[in-house]
Amino acid sequence: MNIIFFGPQGSGKGTQAKIIAKELQLAHISTGDLVRSTKGELKKEIDSYINKGNLVPDELMIRILKERLSHEDCKNGFILDGFPRNLVQARELDKITKIDKTFEISIPDDESIKRLSARLSCKNCGSVFNTITNPPKQKDKCDSCQSELFQREDDKPKAIEKRLEIYKEQTSKLLKHYNSIKINGLQSIELVKKDIEEFI
Ligand code: AMP
Repeated sequence: MNIIFFGPQGSGKGTQAKIIAKELQLAHISTGDLVRSTKGELKKEIDSYINKGNLVPDELMIRILKERLSHEDCKNGFILDGFPRNLVQARELDKITKIDKTFEISIPDDESIKRLSARLSCKNCGSVFNTITNPPKQKDKCDSCQSELFQREDDKPKAIEKRLEIYKEQTSKLLKHYNSIKINGLQSIELVKKDIEEFI
């Protein structure tokens, strides 16, 4: 089964994608994680887009995604988290694979801003915390590996604004294209998961 999760920044789509992928033994493909983990020459170029809240150019993103989809763990199906972001990407995806279900986890803008402004990420293992809803046990230290926590450059106010603008102008247009199922993202993680599972 191939699934897409849409949702504005901070909607919890990454959290849900991780949980459901594990349960259904699907590959979880977060294109944000993919581009953030790029090394070498390409990293500088990619960071210049990400840090300002802009999208990585389609051609580059599609190349990275196609490479990832060719891995063995995608044979049983996958959950896309962060792709496609616009119509160009959606059309490319339609050419190479069939999508069975898509969901939009929906939250209002002020909730996105609140959640992202409070988000802290681990420099070492990538664990994510939230100073309001899921604070680390020790201030600015990761619970799992004790490394330092930091605020992602694109979780700062100006970049958040830009990311939400792109979501509204480009990504939300895809919801109709895929006949996406809307889920209320203001509920607890457990209830959002339950709602999604009812449709799978
Ligand atoms: P995310 O963690 O999904 O919010 O993605 C973080 C950043 O990675 C985005 O703001 C973009 O700069 C880049 N990115 C992730 N997915 C895509 C995509 N499908 N197309 C273009 N850029 C992307």
